[in-house]
Amino acid sequence: MHVKRQLAWLLALLASAGLIAAAYQVAMRQGGADELERGARQLQLMAPELESALDKFETLPYVVGLQENVAALLTQPGERARIDQVNRSLQAIARQSRVGAIYLMDRDGNTLAASNWDLPLTFMGRNFGYRPYFREALAGRAGRFYGIGSTTSEPGYFIAQPVMRGARVLGVVAVKISLDEFARNWAGSEDTIVLADSADVVFLSNRPQWTYRSLRALSATTQRELASTDQYARRPIAPIDGQVPPHAARRTGPLGWQLMLFPAPDRVRRMAALWALAAALVAASAVVAAWALYQRRRRLEERQAANAALQRAAGELDLRLAERTALLRQANDDLEARYATLKETEHVLRSTQDQLVQAGKLAMLGQMAAGVTHELNQPLAAIRAFADNARTFLERGQQAQASANLTHISDASARMGAIIGQLKGFARRSDAVATVDIAQSLAASAFLLQGEFKRLGVALALPPPLSSPNQLLITGDAVRIEQVLINLLRNALDAVDEADVREVSVTLAQIDGYAVVRIADSGPGLSDSVAAHLFEPFFTTKPSGKGLGLGLAISSSIVQAMNGQLEGSNRPGGGAQFEVRLPLPGGETNEGNE
Ligand code: ADP
Repeated sequence: MHVKRQLAWLLALLASAGLIAAAYQVAMRQGGADELERGARQLQLMAPELESALDKFETLPYVVGLQENVAALLTQPGERARIDQVNRSLQAIARQSRVGAIYLMDRDGNTLAASNWDLPLTFMGRNFGYRPYFREALAGRAGRFYGIGSTTSEPGYFIAQPVMRGARVLGVVAVKISLDEFARNWAGSEDTIVLADSADVVFLSNRPQWTYRSLRALSATTQRELASTDQYARRPIAPIDGQVPPHAARRTGPLGWQLMLFPAPDRVRRMAALWALAAALVAASAVVAAWALYQRRRRLEERQAANAALQRAAGELDLRLAERTALLRQANDDLEARYATLKETEHVLRSTQDQLVQAGKLAMLGQMAAGVTHELNQPLAAIRAFADNARTFLERGQQAQASANLTHISDASARMGAIIGQLKGFARRSDAVATVDIAQSLAASAFLLQGEFKRLGVALALPPPLSSPNQLLITGDAVRIEQVLINLLRNALDAVDEADVREVSVTLAQIDGYAVVRIADSGPGLSDSVAAHLFEPFFTTKPSGKGLGLGLAISSSIVQAMNGQLEGSNRPGGGAQFEVRLPLPGGETNEGNE
């Protein structure tokens, strides 16, 4: 991504550079062409001007040659007065026609008269026979020449005409014209303007460094010729440096001159630079536009990416929410199902518990059957013996003995009735709520088990009977309370069965509004594993047939139903103890006492 962007920038830079360079190049070429065209047009105007300037004086020497005293001087040279006369005449004409000089030469080229006769650098007495214009004129033709004056060292255009009398050439009149003024017009031009002769030697220019330089290397012939005519006063003519720059050119004048215009390269360059600048601006705008576009696109992309991310996040959130909801619903369903199961279990438990209470009673009844049978058998056997004996006593007429036996029988049956009464109350399913004397319940329970305690030789220590004001009266079902106590006594009896010391002691107390029955034994006590499961239904350590593991579970639920507590613990001196706490009416935990 980064590399790609850098590459794009590089390409843009290259493209911009290319554009600028191309613009510059094209502008240079086009500008150059335009400039040349403009130059050509300018030359078109300038050339005739020059030509007319040269043309203007074409006839002047001829006209001068027509003057009689000029011809006279040529035929009779050396006459001082005439020389003077001609001198002044030439001077006047030169001033009038604004030419550099007018002078008269004889057939040998010696100057006989000159307009500059009175100047230090006068042509008087000089010989110009070697000059081409002189030779031409001597041949009867108009002679024209441009060169540096050998006397004045000033360049000029020379026009010479023969002085004819009939067919005879008496001499030559020449006019020297300065082209300085013409060149002066160019001085202000930005372009380089030159005038070159037919040999391509620049002799007039608005750039001094161009003057007297040749546009091409001069041939030996040309060099010799230049030397022989002394055209440029023996100045060394060096070719210009390098190639001839682009230019407009136009032939002009009778000598095959070339008027040339070299457009100022600066202008073209300035123009081209402007174009390049414009191109640079265009490129810069393009780059800026591209950058802006790129930024916009990136922002758009970023926004899209952000949107996508947002949507993704929202989608994920939805998904997670849905998942969470599903999980919650699942959990809820699970909970509901569990709750339903719990309800059902509770229901089952409750009904089971009810059944168990009944079943437990029956089981205990079965367990008690042996003890009860034993208890009933004894008086029954006694009754039979007493009855048999009584019949014998009656047959023998021993009234008193018979009567005593009947009393024994009555006592025994009364005792049996008592036992049966207890059993009756225990077996029935009872919800009878009444005021119960705990001590009485304890006594009844102990009474039911006393035969067994006796049989196994276990000592049962019961609390002394309580007097009326100290009675512990609770509200509840007497049968059930007895069921609990019998159960605890039986467990204690079982516990001490194999112990060395075999005793069970029961105490009664009133603690914090509770009637508390404590049944302690000298058995092995409760191990940790037993203590942990003590009140669980069907938990038993006893051999099958002996224990159902229901006793403590039923007892606990009976006690709890009466707002009481059943707790088992180990005695400090060894053995276990079980405490039944039942609320006393009037105590803070008492309910429904009226
Ligand atoms: P079961 O007597 O039919 O076993 P219980 O619920 O009455 O059922 O008693 C459960 C268990 O608690 C007994 O098997 C016995 O291990 C233990 N246990 C009850 N009372 C005592 C006690 N006084 N001493 C030692 N262990 C006892």
